[in-house]
This record gives sequence, C-alpha cells and structure tokens, in this order.
Amino acid sequence: MRTRVLSSLLLCAGAATTVAAQQPMVGFTAADAARERAVETNAIQRPSAQSAATLSKDLSRETHVSGTPAQARTRDYVIAQLKKWGIDTDVKTFDVWMPHATSVHVTRVSPKPKELSLAEPPVAGDPSSRLAQYPTVNGYSGQGDVTADVVYVNYGLIEDYAQLDSMGVSVKGKIAIARYGRSFRGIKAREAEKHGAVGLLIYSDPQDDGYVAGDVYPNGPMRNSAGVQRGSILNDDGDPSTPGYPSTAGAPRLTPDKMNIAHIPVVPLSYGNATELLEYMTGPSVPRSWQGGLPFHYHVGPGPVRVREAVTDDRATKAMKPIYDTFGIVRGSEFPDELVIVGGHRDAWGPGTGDNISGTVSILEAAHAVADELKAGMRPKRTLVFATWDAEEWGLIGSTEYVEDDSLRLSRNAVAYFNQDEAAQGSQFNASGSPSLRPTLRDVARLVPDPNGQGSVYSEWRKAAKVPNGQEPAMGDPGGGSDFAGFYNHLGIPILDWGFGGPSGIYHSQYDDYTWMTKFGDTGFQYHAAAARIGTAMMLRLANADILPYDYVEYAQTMRRYVAPVDRLVAQHHWTAPTTALSASIDRLEQAGAAFNAARDSALAGTVPAATLGQTNQALVQVERALTRPEGLKNRPWFRNLIYVADEDNGYANMVFPTVNEAIRANDETLTRSEIADLAAHFDRAASALDAATRTLRGR
Ligand SMILES: [Zn+2]
Repeated sequence: MRTRVLSSLLLCAGAATTVAAQQPMVGFTAADAARERAVETNAIQRPSAQSAATLSKDLSRETHVSGTPAQARTRDYVIAQLKKWGIDTDVKTFDVWMPHATSVHVTRVSPKPKELSLAEPPVAGDPSSRLAQYPTVNGYSGQGDVTADVVYVNYGLIEDYAQLDSMGVSVKGKIAIARYGRSFRGIKAREAEKHGAVGLLIYSDPQDDGYVAGDVYPNGPMRNSAGVQRGSILNDDGDPSTPGYPSTAGAPRLTPDKMNIAHIPVVPLSYGNATELLEYMTGPSVPRSWQGGLPFHYHVGPGPVRVREAVTDDRATKAMKPIYDTFGIVRGSEFPDELVIVGGHRDAWGPGTGDNISGTVSILEAAHAVADELKAGMRPKRTLVFATWDAEEWGLIGSTEYVEDDSLRLSRNAVAYFNQDEAAQGSQFNASGSPSLRPTLRDVARLVPDPNGQGSVYSEWRKAAKVPNGQEPAMGDPGGGSDFAGFYNHLGIPILDWGFGGPSGIYHSQYDDYTWMTKFGDTGFQYHAAAARIGTAMMLRLANADILPYDYVEYAQTMRRYVAPVDRLVAQHHWTAPTTALSASIDRLEQAGAAFNAARDSALAGTVPAATLGQTNQALVQVERALTRPEGLKNRPWFRNLIYVADEDNGYANMVFPTVNEAIRANDETLTRSEIADLAAHFDRAASALDAATRTLRGR
C-alpha cells in the first residue's frame, strides 16, 4: 500500500531552488568526499537486474498474506539471503489482532437472483494466477450477514453523503456501493457506517484503473473485469488492540468492542461484478460527475437491486497472529549508535510482485551491494539497518509496532529512514519525503544512470516532469499510507521514499505477479536495480557523512509556501489570527539553516576534531524532532509531527501544518490562533537546535 494521490508530476509551486552545475558533496571534507565518491561509484554498480529478477521470482512464488505460513517463509528467505552475504540479522516478532476471513458471499437477491463469483479467475499465460488466493474481502471488515437494497454513493466521500442528503436519499439500513479512488478505503467504510449503512461494497470502476485508462490484463497492464482491489480499512496505524504502544508479550489488550475498527461487512468487487448490481439500479440519475466508466447510465437507487453480503472470519478462534519484521545490520565503525535505516513491507494480498516484493528486492540488493563493499574493506561510520516489515497491508502494523517498541533509541539515534514501497513497477521516477533530505536524494539521483540509457535518473526525472531551468522536480509530502509513518509522523525522523511507477491496474489483485511484472511493470528488472542503486548510495552517504547533510534552507523555503494558504482561510473566516509570528519563525529557521551551512562548509574545509563532529551531529538530529510535540494532534495523539499528516477526512490527501489547518476546519478561531503561535514556537525551537549545532561547530 502507498499513498495513491500522485503529486510527483507537479512542479514545486514557486520553489526557486537553483540548480548548481557541479555539486560538491555536502557534509564531507574534501578527502572524505573523494573517498565517498569512489565507494559510491563502485557500490552502485553492484545491484544487478538478473539477481533482482531471481529474488523477485522467489519471493512472489506464493500468495503471502501476513499471518500465513507462506509469509513466514518469506521471512526465512530474506534472513537466509542476508546471512549468505555475511550480514548480521535479527527478527522481531509481535502478536497482533488480525482476523482472517473464512467466508465471503455477495448475492444479488433481486432482480434475477445470482451469487456473484468473487475469486479472480486464472488468466491464460500466467501461472501465478492459479495460486491459492486470499478471499476478496477488505482487511478488518466487520463480520455480518445482511440483506438490503443497494445505494450508489459515488466515492463515498463526506461530500458525497451531503449530496445524497440533498437528493433525499439515505443509506440508513441499506448496503452502500462506492467506487475506489479519491480517498482511503478506511474512510469510505467509516463514513458508510456513520451514515447508517449495514454493509459496504467498494468496486474498481474502469474509469479509475481499468479499460478507460488502457488495455487490460493480460493484453495490457490495466485492471480486467475480474480484477479486485483488496486492502485494509483500518484507519489507525498499528495493531488495533494496542493503540499507541507496542504489541509485546504481556501488553494489555483492548477487547474488540473497544477497538477503533469497522462493524459492518466491507467487500471489494471487480467491475464485472459491480456491473451485475449497478446495471439494474433505478431511482434518481446520478449527478454528472458521479457517472463512472461502465457502459450504461448510473442510478443512485435505493434498489430495486437487493443484495445479501455475508462475511465471517476467525476472530473467535484465532484472532491473534504472529508477525515478523526482519533486520540486516551493519555496525558503524565511528558512530555505531547512530542509525541509517531502509525498510519496506514484505507482506502482500497476493503474490505481490509489485506491492511490495519490488521494495523488498530493492532493499535486499542494496544490502548485497553493501555486503560486497564490506568484503572489499569498506566500513560505514554509522550503523546501517536493512528492514522488511510484516503486516503493512493491514495497517502499517509491523513497522508501527517496531517503532513503538524501540521509540526512545530511534528518537535519539535514527538519522534517516528510507522507505521502499512499490519501488519498481514502471519507468517514471517519483519521490517524496522531508524537505531536509531532498537535496541529497537529487544529488544521488544524478549519480545513478537511468535504465532507459539516456542519462541519469535525475535528468530523466526532470525531462519527464518538464521542469523549467532554475527549478527542481517536485517531491511529494510524507502524509501517510506506508511504513514511514511511525518514523516520520510519530517520531519526527527525516524520511525519504522513492520508486519507479507506471500504468498499473493490478494493485492489491492476484494479478500483481511475476508474469505481469515481466510483461509490463519492469520487463528486464532494470528499474528494480536502479531503485537499489539509489538506496545503496543514500545509505552510504548518510552513514559516512562527517556532518549529516540535512538542508534546513530548503526546508524553511518549503514551509514558507504553506503560510499564504493559512492566511487565505483565516481571511475567509473574517478572523483575527495573524501569521506574522509564524512567518518570522520560518525566516529565523532559514537564517539558522544558512548560517549552519556556511559554518559546516568552512569547518569541513579544514580539520574538525572527531568529538566536535559527534556533538554537532547529535545537535542536528534534534532539529526535526523539535517540530513534533508529545501530545500530538488534537484528535490523533499518535501523530506528533506538526508539519505533514494524512488528512483525517480523506486518508490519502496530505495536510500541511495539521494543528493549524484542523483548527480552521473545526471553525475554532481561538484554537487557530493558539495553534499558529504553538507552531511558530516549534519553528523557533528547531532554529535554536540548529543554532546550537552551529555554535558547537564554531567551538563557542
Ligand atoms: Zn505496499
């Protein structure tokens, strides 16, 4: 799973970051930079497409849903590879509340009774499509057996229900049918239940990722009429029985009636099956924008289509299941306590070749490259961690439990977390992350050749995004939707996420498999290797930097763009909630960033005592931690980061400055004013942390 609202093709609005011709290596002395260049140049040649193909084929040979024996086998496979390369390993196990479906039925009761065939049928020429399947049901669906008239609710957004209200149509006591898109499916389930629906069906409209978008599988990469998007509807991150704390042995557990989970059955449908319902519906015509891509006019209902939706699971007998995070660890030679981490989830809804064996392979190939460098005598200064997470698909569970369990050490010592989710299933590079790390990623993307043979990943990225001279290709903001959430949203650790995407209609389907990948996604596994080359260089760069290469000038410049929209909203409300102090604090952060960069570059031009470097880096790590607060967001205490979060009413869309923007949405002038002041105080604290780093470096 990952955030599927793509912003990577948009330009940085107003970002006047200039492009330097030849970039010096930030954070290194001249001698160390030369050594690092040599190591990186060598190391990035090591990941191989052939080896990536083998790993991909092996790891996607079975459907490996979290909590199953097949998923335990991927753990063993990953650990065996790391050991074979000579890397130390660890496995962390958590027991989590994760019921698996035991039966799922959707039956059209009237007109013309028909039980829908829910499984995804085999496809000619694709052996993996014959593998055992996980039932087509949403993760954390409620159990139930309901029969009711059907109402079409468009995307199932809050505004869609308002529209239905205005049409005099209610879903109370009905089964809602919503299309995928525009919001996280968990929000669709929450809203359907809130509005009184007794069941929810979520289908993939062909307009979204089916025949309207392109040729369908197996003739093309898009979703065919039987393809189903499974996926979790859990709205919180982590095990719902231990909200905010780790699922360790003996941890107190909420009972299901206390958990924040859905209570109605929620089942995903192919558009072939959705047609069996939508085509027979009458009642009011849909508003124009609600019409999807099926070849008939849509009606809202209710009815006359009547459906039975029935889901059972194993919660009464074995709701608790073990999950396994794996770790490959390379101990640092100079700062062994400081951690540079790359991670991605290893679980899937089917064979998961794209989501997320591609990320797993990128991580493994980077680990392999580093292992070979170790054999050649290289020692990283900081500790490298190569992680694969379990149960991401159910709600970022493996990474969340790990972060909650090890939060003190991570808060103190993690210098960066890199996420790999859907790392290679196309040729278009995209990236997101903390503004402080974006310049380093751009620099590394300049080193790595693009698999199209025409330049670097960076130059092809610019070309595809049509970036004018003097600007940089935009990167996404870390809202949520993948395993960086624990690191970023909960602890304030700088993160990055990158990968190569393209046309795809197999998301969370049985057809996300090796055959699809070799026919459409990454036919020669060159993009898997390229993602791993970037990972290899990013890990080594952060591990070996004399001074961590965070850029708080770009950070502050990025933040400044978010102030004017706050001003506009405040003006719309006719409130007095000035952002002058907020702007001033962002200015101070930029000045502190510029002063630090100058002090760093001048110090590294000479010799800096090792102890000074150590203290400077310790101070630097605190800068972004200062942009979190222990009590978190007003309605979501787990989310402590004050800069970016997933919109609580959407789940996919990002919200910037969430404490302020949620106060505005709550229509609370006083709170808005105090949250603006609080945010400004946090920017001041970040600037002070940066000033402390500058003073340490200057020796006063
Ligand atoms: Zn994923």
